[in-house]
Amino acid sequence: MFNSLELTGRASTHVREVPELGCILHGEAMLQALAMRAAARAAGIELAIVSSFRDFDRQLAIWNAKFAGERQLLDRDGRALTHAHLSESALIDAILIWSALPGASRHHWGTDIDVVDRAAVAHDYRPQLVPAEFGRNGPFARLDAWLAANMATFGFFRPYTTDRGGVQPEPWHLSFAPLAEPALAALTPQVLSAALAASEMHGRAAVLARLPEIYARYVTAIDPPRVNLPPRPF
Ligand SMILES: [Zn+2]
Repeated sequence: MFNSLELTGRASTHVREVPELGCILHGEAMLQALAMRAAARAAGIELAIVSSFRDFDRQLAIWNAKFAGERQLLDRDGRALTHAHLSESALIDAILIWSALPGASRHHWGTDIDVVDRAAVAHDYRPQLVPAEFGRNGPFARLDAWLAANMATFGFFRPYTTDRGGVQPEPWHLSFAPLAEPALAALTPQVLSAALAASEMHGRAAVLARLPEIYARYVTAIDPPRVNLPPRPF
């Protein structure tokens, strides 16, 4: 279904622009996202996608800026870390709890979206994408409950719901299971390592030396879908 360039965000042949949603997605994920938005709208929720497909180079730019200390690093509790105090390995973990490894972002697949509810906030509100916004007193509490009850109908699940010691909980991040599950299975450490070896990533040697552990902790340690996957034609 996805080739190795598509799996690692180095091609965009599997995605398309979706003007209605202002984003870029795989065609099947797009159809279900549109259907989910219509259902949410009927419930008074204005589902807006703030992040969708992101390519390898974009993820690499984020990674390299953080690795170089040009972007703020935070610990698990959101406290600022001092770049100069971190060993190379600690720096890698500090990046990975908040940002995916280039080549391993689920956003590379065109199956994953970050969503907010525009009906719940003022038009000039800038979503921070922090768990408190989706908590009981946050502006997106209704969206959170609606997604929990309804997203599976459209094939979506939330891979970063609980803290599994890797990626921080991201209640805004939805994944289209019928495509994302096979994509994750196809994104083997070998596929990922080949993509990284061909890149200009800061800390590349240290990441490749730790890849099996990084892969287990930050790529495959997700909350599994509670979606009944329909039989697929391919
Ligand atoms: Zn996301």
